[in-house]
Formats: sequence, C-alpha cells, structure tokens
Amino acid sequence: MTITGDIMEVPKSSSVNPAVELARILSAAAVVRRDEPLAKRTTLRVGGPADVYVEPANESDLAVTVEFCHARGLSFFVMGRGSNLLVRDGGFRGVVICLASQDFSRVEIEGERLRCGAGVKLKQVAVDAKRAGLAGVEFLEGIPGSVGGALRMNAGAMGGQMFDVIESVRVMDRAGQVRELTVAEIPVEYRCCPLLKDHIALGAVFRCRAATRAEVEQRMNTFSEKRWESQPSMPSAGCMFKNPATIPAGKLIEELGFKEKRVGGAMVSKEHGNFIVNTGNATAHDVLELAALIKARAWSERKIELQTEVEIVGVD
Ligand SMILES: Cc1cc2nc3c(=O)[nH]c(=O)nc-3n(C[C@H](O)[C@H](O)[C@H](O)COP(=O)(O)OP(=O)(O)OC[C@H]3O[C@@H](n4cnc5c(N)ncnc54)[C@H](O)[C@@H]3O)c2cc1C
Repeated sequence: MTITGDIMEVPKSSSVNPAVELARILSAAAVVRRDEPLAKRTTLRVGGPADVYVEPANESDLAVTVEFCHARGLSFFVMGRGSNLLVRDGGFRGVVICLASQDFSRVEIEGERLRCGAGVKLKQVAVDAKRAGLAGVEFLEGIPGSVGGALRMNAGAMGGQMFDVIESVRVMDRAGQVRELTVAEIPVEYRCCPLLKDHIALGAVFRCRAATRAEVEQRMNTFSEKRWESQPSMPSAGCMFKNPATIPAGKLIEELGFKEKRVGGAMVSKEHGNFIVNTGNATAHDVLELAALIKARAWSERKIELQTEVEIVGVD
C-alpha cells in the first residue's frame, strides 16, 4: 500500500482521517493519498484537492472502498483520465476513486472482441485493435479518456459512439455487487449512460470486425487529421456543452460572438467555439463564469437552453 501526504500514525478509531483507515483496510498494492491535488489529474488543469484519493488494486479493494464510504457517509466519485471533468476551486469533500491500477488496465483480444478494463486509455483500445487487424473503434483514437469515462459519457466522434461498438459492460453497484450486463440491458442517450451515474464501470467487451491493418490505419489517420484541424491544443475539457438539436453548440457560440472571449485565464478557443481553454492561469471559477455568460446569451438571443457536457464536481 502506498500512502503519501502527511499521515503520521496508525488510527485506533473511526474518528481518524479516512485516508488512514482506508490505507489500513485495502490491499498492500492500493494507492491512498490525502489532500491530493486534482487539477493535475484533469485535462483542463483547474480545481482544488480531493480529501482522499484512492487507486484500488483490484475489484475487491474497490468494493471495500465503496462499502467504507457508505458506512462512513462519505461522498465519492470515480474519475477516469479527467478529460470531461471540471473540479471546482475548493476541491472535493470525500473520496475520489481512480481505476488506474494494472488490474483495471488490461486489454485481452478474443477473436473479434476486445475485453478492456475501465482504466484502459481509449487510444490504446484503438491501437491494439489496429495491431490485431480489427476495425470499428478507430474513432476512439483521439478522445483523451479512459474506457470507464467513455462508457459513462457514451463518448463519440466521427459519426461513431461508444455504445455502438460495445457488447457488454461489467459493473459494480454501490453495495459492491458485480454484474455483467449486455448492451441491450443498458439504456443510453446522447453523451450519457444513466446507469453509470450510480454504478461503476469495471470494464467492457468491444465487438469489432476483421479488416486489414492498412485499412484501419488509414481511417485512423483521416480521423486524426480532421480532429487536429478543429481542436485546440491548449488545456480544455473537450466540448463544454452538448449539441442542441437545432445547431452544433460550437457554431452557435461562434455566431453569438464569443470566440476568444475571456474571463480571467479562461478563453473560448479560437479554433472551436465549444471548447473553453485554460490559457495558463485559469481557475474553475473563470471557466464557470464564462460558461454561464454563454448559456445566458444563448437563451436571451436564441431561446436555446445549452446543457453542460462537462461533468462538474466539488465545492467553490
Ligand atoms: C481535447 C479533448 C477532446 C475531446 N474529444 C472528445 C470527442 O471527440 N468525443 C467525446 O465524446 N468526448 C471528447 N472529449 C471528452 C472526454 O475525453 C470524454 O468524455 C471521455 O470519454 C471522458 O473519459 P475520462 O476517462 O477522461 O472521464 P472523466 O473525465 O475522468 O470522467 C467523466 C465522467 O465519467 C465518470 N466516470 C469515469 N470513470 C468511470 C467509471 N469507471 N465508472 C463510472 N463512471 C465513471 C466520472 O465520474 C465523470 O462523471 C474530449 C476531451 C478533450 C480534453
């Protein structure tokens, strides 16, 4: 077990810091930290620390962590690679769980299927599929998230979305019970899998199809070129808002005159109206204020109610 932060003694009662207690009850390979800065764990690079940060070594550690939070009345949330997250400046009061250990980071190829842990990077899914001569998941290549985060968000790009290529998902409920669900048992929406608001994705099986490596590679290259024509390289959390039914959010924001509009260190990207970028010293407050201005004007001028795609957690 790895404990970092200022933990000086082994606790005798439940009044001690939860990080210390968790470190005692989890396996030796688990990572437990307290007051862990979260900004560096998100692509937007803003926000305060988590009271407790845990990387369970395996499913059993995860179940223990979830039960512990329940018994102690502690809030928790699971974070992937933090690429669709905005953590408020005061940080998160509770436990942040990240499925980054080896047990959650495996890819197994079984014929035309890929069995992937929730912690696997989407880029790795695409690259491993290409190496095995499997097509269908090329669109995941440029999305900087994990399998778990992409399942929760039903992430998509280039006309494809996560649940189009998923056969089954392994989930844990808040009581620590594990089930394997087929895709038919999981309702999904545009950029949302409601089931995963209160279940943790442990991994998934992707269904691909056989193809030549050259064919897959060519599609990946085309997607990558397209992406970098319109995507900013500055830190961001991807698209700030979901696309309304009538107009892409980026186009709307551009038409409303917001391109390169700034609040503090946050700025609407000049490459893509739906990306708010951190120009270097942004706070979560700057980003949220800029997003609120955009929302207000979309409503007052177009009667369009923009909905945030980025998940917002923590306290001011
Ligand atoms: C430059 C850039 C480009 C992007 N391009 C795209 C794009 O083309 N298409 C697209 O859809 N998105 C895009 N995104 C957004 C983001 O990459 C995706 O939403 C991604 O799937 C989020 O995965 P993550 O691991 O980073 O999740 P996080 O940001 O860490 O978490 C997102 C949500 O998922 C939940 N979550 C994470 N892991 C689990 C789990 N194991 N079980 C249950 N819930 C979990 C979290 O609690 C949170 O609510 C982009 C982001 C950036 C920064």
